[in-house]
Amino acid sequence: MGTKGIAIVDMDVKKLIGVLNKAFSDEWLAYYQYWIGAKVVKGPMKEAVIAELTEHAADELRHADMLATRILQLGGTPVTEPKEWYKLTNCGYDAPEDPFVKAVLDQNIKGEQCAIMTYKNLLNYTLNKDPVTYNIVLQILQDEVEHEEDLQADLEDLLTMLNVHKGK
Ligand code: FE
Ligand code: FE
Ligand code: MG
Repeated sequence: MGTKGIAIVDMDVKKLIGVLNKAFSDEWLAYYQYWIGAKVVKGPMKEAVIAELTEHAADELRHADMLATRILQLGGTPVTEPKEWYKLTNCGYDAPEDPFVKAVLDQNIKGEQCAIMTYKNLLNYTLNKDPVTYNIVLQILQDEVEHEEDLQADLEDLLTMLNVHKGK
């Protein structure tokens, strides 16, 4: 950890590390939710949805890496015990118990909407106080906004297709 790099952080660094570890826990749970969703999903448009879920899983794992790197720079330790993810998470974990493609998309859209709110709050929290963390959070937020849009586009295509089948 760099002493000057930490000294320029104009906020309670311990508290910041705590907040980053909450987001870090979210990212691991989001990663697994996408990863297992891609394995179990069933129904029309399955191939397109699997490709999207797999891509998003990789993005969430990359987000976890970005947050871990920042936590370490700040002199903290990323959560070492997975059981803690459940205690620290902002957005929780939705097991894809219903593997139908619409149910999986709905769950992940809900997750992304929570992630967008979480990172928007983190942007406000770090604005003018920690530009390095702010920049990382902004990059992650841009990805989460893209994730939500991708999933909603897949859902729209799916609903159009289902309605065509019903003759609507
Ligand atoms: Fe993420
Ligand atoms: Fe995401
Ligand atoms: Mg995508």
